[in-house]
Amino acid sequence: MSHRRALRFSKTTCPYCGGREVARDDLKGDLICTTCGEVVSRRETRAVGKFDVAQTLKRNGKMDFRTLREATGASDDKLFAVLQSMIQMGLLQEIGGVYSLTKRGQRWYRQRLGQEWGY
Ligand SMILES: [Zn+2]
Repeated sequence: MSHRRALRFSKTTCPYCGGREVARDDLKGDLICTTCGEVVSRRETRAVGKFDVAQTLKRNGKMDFRTLREATGASDDKLFAVLQSMIQMGLLQEIGGVYSLTKRGQRWYRQRLGQEWGY
């Protein structure tokens, strides 16, 4: 029996060098190319925009992090960054882990909505 490894090979091809030896690090959930060493993906990194977050909150009312993540399809780190930035801009408030749009956030959303529609 060979020695155990923490890495398991995945079927992904490396987008940087085209290498086939992309391994999954089970501890971190990262996919790492063993040829060029690039981290191919940190789970599924999906970005989300402020507008998407505002729209989701406008439709659903107050939401916690998990439901927001599911609704927007964003990955944890990206969603967290957007939420923090919106809080800093005064568009969003977080009370006890529940996020909602502030008055300013609602105004911002309506303005952006107008721009989306080309008013
Ligand atoms: Zn590579």
